[in-house]
Amino acid sequence: MVKTQWDSKQLIIEAINLFKKANIPKPRLNAELIMVYCMNKERIDLYVDYKKKLTRIEANYFRALIQRRLKKEPVQYIIGRTEFMSLPFYVNKHVLIPRPETEVLVEQVMNHVLENKKRNYRILDIGTGSGNIIVSLAKYAPKCLYMGIDISNAALKVAKKNAKLNKIKDDIKFLNADGFECFSRRRHFDVIVSNPPYIKSSDLNGLQDEIKMHEPCIALEAGEEGLDKIRYLIDNSYKFMRKNALLTIEFAYGQCKSIKSYAIKKGKYKHIRIVKDLSGIDRIIMMNRK
Ligand code: GLN
Repeated sequence: MVKTQWDSKQLIIEAINLFKKANIPKPRLNAELIMVYCMNKERIDLYVDYKKKLTRIEANYFRALIQRRLKKEPVQYIIGRTEFMSLPFYVNKHVLIPRPETEVLVEQVMNHVLENKKRNYRILDIGTGSGNIIVSLAKYAPKCLYMGIDISNAALKVAKKNAKLNKIKDDIKFLNADGFECFSRRRHFDVIVSNPPYIKSSDLNGLQDEIKMHEPCIALEAGEEGLDKIRYLIDNSYKFMRKNALLTIEFAYGQCKSIKSYAIKKGKYKHIRIVKDLSGIDRIIMMNRK
């Protein structure tokens, strides 16, 4: 017979205390998310049977995962799950964990597509990562043609898994490529969207441990000013867009002015506008091909 010495409540309290000592934010939430993952249950089940007995193997597994969180690994990587646009997304260390700010980017594109009521819109997501942007668009703005490209094959595997997880019926084409290198000039998209890397190289060290020690640097860093990838997108997107097509890019706090003047100077875009995120920070630039 298996000896059942531990119950979920005891183990959660033990983890909360360890997290508090290590200054891990939201200790209870972290401990509970890891517990329900170990038990292969939903969070609600935890409240229904709060003192559920655990086997020694389950308890050891829980404690091992708690140790990973103590080493500052984000809980999303530990449990392999996060939520974006109210949809479930699988994540691992090869992809950036989707951020709530990026939901604003998706909503803008979604509104644009739905307002124009055009089907078969060709939508391209550059640097798709976990696929959060393109999968959400396929879900909420259906009947278009979707493409996600990424330089990382490991990231694309995650993106494909997320398309399946969200039961996307309209196929998304995923391509392994560095930016636009895979296209001929004849490719004309109606929408190009991107949440590119935009952190200054010198700022990387100042980021919280969870990010700098665990999230993929390739998805974060973009040169001295953090603008390398954004400039690349502004320099090249228009060549692959039809007239009036939309380009939408997310950027960081403090980058708005230089990105806007860069886009104006390029001379290829019109209706250049900025959208704020939910905290009131300038976060997205939108423009249309002349
Ligand atoms: N598109 C993904 C996201 O928005 C990945 C972005 C990236 O890797 N820079 O989270």
